[in-house]
Amino acid sequence: MTAEFEAIREALWKKAEDVMVHKNRAVNTLEEAKALLASGYVGMIKMPWCGVDGCGHEAEGALDMKTLGTPAEGEKPAEGAKCAICGAPAKEIIIMSRTY
Ligand SMILES: [Zn+2]
Repeated sequence: MTAEFEAIREALWKKAEDVMVHKNRAVNTLEEAKALLASGYVGMIKMPWCGVDGCGHEAEGALDMKTLGTPAEGEKPAEGAKCAICGAPAKEIIIMSRTY
């Protein structure tokens, strides 16, 4: 195996790892989500949510993302977590994704 080939293989692997690690990132606030997107992140974002539709809509507008729903695994926010949008106690985790 040539060194060049090895380098390409490593780069591809690194990229695949990045996707696996970053495809789903948890943030605590809308500001964190914005900063993450501004850094070039592409993938889904999870954040704590109070369960009020208005907050979901606000997040969609602010981040230019769509709500995919809540985690299929039934994951719940950490104790004491606050809604990323309004700061009320979080009841659910909401998953957002960019639509292309
Ligand atoms: Zn809220």
